Amino acid sequence: MFVLALMFYTQRLMLISGKSRIQGTGLYTDSAISVRVKIGDYVGERISIREARRRAKRRRTIAIIELDDNYAIDGAVRGGPLRFVNHSCDPNVFVRIAYGRAEFYARRVILAGDELTCDYGDSQHEGKLPCRCGAEKCRKFI
Ligand SMILES: [Zn+2]
Repeated sequence: MFVLALMFYTQRLMLISGKSRIQGTGLYTDSAISVRVKIGDYVGERISIREARRRAKRRRTIAIIELDDNYAIDGAVRGGPLRFVNHSCDPNVFVRIAYGRAEFYARRVILAGDELTCDYGDSQHEGKLPCRCGAEKCRKFI
């Protein structure tokens, strides 16, 4: 396990990556986060959608967010801690895509020690990957 410290506007937020109950490595917070508080921007290499689709095909863990019809961010290259946020069908984080950025916000109050999750929506897995999020209203596939 390694630790990544991030500094934000009003609160000091420590995000810790570690083994996830859902899938592979997950991201946890060491302190509570209030609803609608910004957690951070998704960072990584900016690539074309065409390149994103090409990379998605040959990877098991994808870590790519599509921004619009032209661009995507690949968190696997020069990425930040948010690339470890796993999918949940009942997530505690939502992603707002605006002005060429993907911003992560708390969807509800998140408690210290909680794993951060977001809804991948229409993912590059095309609904073929079994979901292990454990949520009551799990859609079963991503
Ligand atoms: Zn699920």
